[in-house]
Amino acid sequence: MPRVAIVGGGWAGLAAAVELAAHGMPVVLCEAARQLGGRARAVAWDGVSVDNGQHLLIGAYRETLRLAQRVGSADRLRRRRLRLILPEFELGLPRLAAPLHLATGLLTARGLGLGDKLAATRFMQALKRQAFRLAADTTVDALLRQHAQPQTLIDRLWAPICVAALNTPLEQASARVFCNVLRDSLGAHRADSDFLFHQGPLAALLPEPAARYIASHGGEVRLGCKVEGIRQSAGGWRLLGPEIEAQAVVVATHPARLPALLGGLPALGPILDKVRDYRWQPIDTTWLRFAAPVRLPYPMLALGGGQSPWVFDRQDLVPGLLSVVVSAEGPHLDADGPTWSEHLIERLQPLIGPLPRLLGHKRIIEKRATYACVPSMHRPANRTPLSGLYLAGDYTRGDYPATLEGAVRSGVACARMITGVDRVLITNQEHR
Ligand SMILES: Cc1cc2nc3c(=O)[nH]c(=O)nc-3n(C[C@H](O)[C@H](O)[C@H](O)COP(=O)(O)OP(=O)(O)OC[C@H]3O[C@@H](n4cnc5c(N)ncnc54)[C@H](O)[C@@H]3O)c2cc1C
Repeated sequence: MPRVAIVGGGWAGLAAAVELAAHGMPVVLCEAARQLGGRARAVAWDGVSVDNGQHLLIGAYRETLRLAQRVGSADRLRRRRLRLILPEFELGLPRLAAPLHLATGLLTARGLGLGDKLAATRFMQALKRQAFRLAADTTVDALLRQHAQPQTLIDRLWAPICVAALNTPLEQASARVFCNVLRDSLGAHRADSDFLFHQGPLAALLPEPAARYIASHGGEVRLGCKVEGIRQSAGGWRLLGPEIEAQAVVVATHPARLPALLGGLPALGPILDKVRDYRWQPIDTTWLRFAAPVRLPYPMLALGGGQSPWVFDRQDLVPGLLSVVVSAEGPHLDADGPTWSEHLIERLQPLIGPLPRLLGHKRIIEKRATYACVPSMHRPANRTPLSGLYLAGDYTRGDYPATLEGAVRSGVACARMITGVDRVLITNQEHR
């Protein structure tokens, strides 16, 4: 009988399974889809394996880096110093020790007046003095106004960071989570602010090597295995559908799936009520394939304007391939695919020059890409009130917004609870 069952093969479930397998625990992971990866997965398009959405990692993603090292895929990450390139603004962080890197970067930023630069420096220093903690949560917009941040600075620096990191517009986004992001990126060691661009499909960074790791450490990964419900049983837990018995279960699905999966467990009613209140935010990724390679000045640049699209060089997948991502809700979602692609090309050409002939485009809108990261939202703990039942996922309690790192940390946290104190409980049950 498998000891630990994991429901969901996204990055949270995979992180839990790898960590458990590494500690010699027998695991079985059930994934409803025919492939692993969840919201960070490969999609086949015209003979190329692209991703469902463009993903960017940063140097502060420590647990994700550790996991990639464990499964042997860390060499797929290319580290580059932070550069934010917009038509009207540019910020680059030099190779200097913190906090000099940020001070110098802000001072030499293009597109900000001296008043903006001083305001940004004062804001970061004020947050640092209070250890990036806020007594009460509010919106990012309100926080920036409290700190008298000029509109140009908000539009060019803070809003793009907020929307990209929290996938939530400034006026709705949680100031507390925004401060956590600033603390661990711009406010930390220089290397934490680096961008990590993954080479090749996302599936090759984690889902595929993780599956191999789990199998080679005695675990099992079942695809097309939808769990219909979870019940307590004599031996611990029963997964309805695949009818798997396990002593501990890690539920690692999208939060929207929780009510259907856990509705039969009254003790979890209060958690499910809170999750039912979540609102969702989309992410829109367009893949553009050109007939010849395209040169960008840096692997990623913004097209500018409010809620700017970000263009990524994806010629690691196939020559002439770019991805363009727009985070959060907005009027761009009203445009149809061909019109939107044309619009993107029209905005890109003035920045980098004439583009080769377009061979094809593919747009993927993930409607429930992330929860709206709003002030004071309830995020459940990994340990539930029911012994042996854990929750993992980017929505569970933690410092980060909905990100790969948040998902991975939650999975690792569940695994550590099971391999640590809870191991005693499992062993006791075995001897009964
Ligand atoms: C387009 C897009 C772009 C993004 N960009 C970034 C980025 O640049 N940087 C970043 O850090 N983060 C980014 N994110 C966020 C990141 O992808 C997510 O936070 C992360 O993938 C969530 O992982 P998860 O394991 O918590 O959940 P999911 O990925 O949702 O995994 C849940 C899994 O559970 C499975 N499942 C559900 N129900 C069942 C069931 N009943 N039985 C069995 N299996 C089930 C699902 O099929 C799925 O595979 C992006 C997300 C999207 C959608």
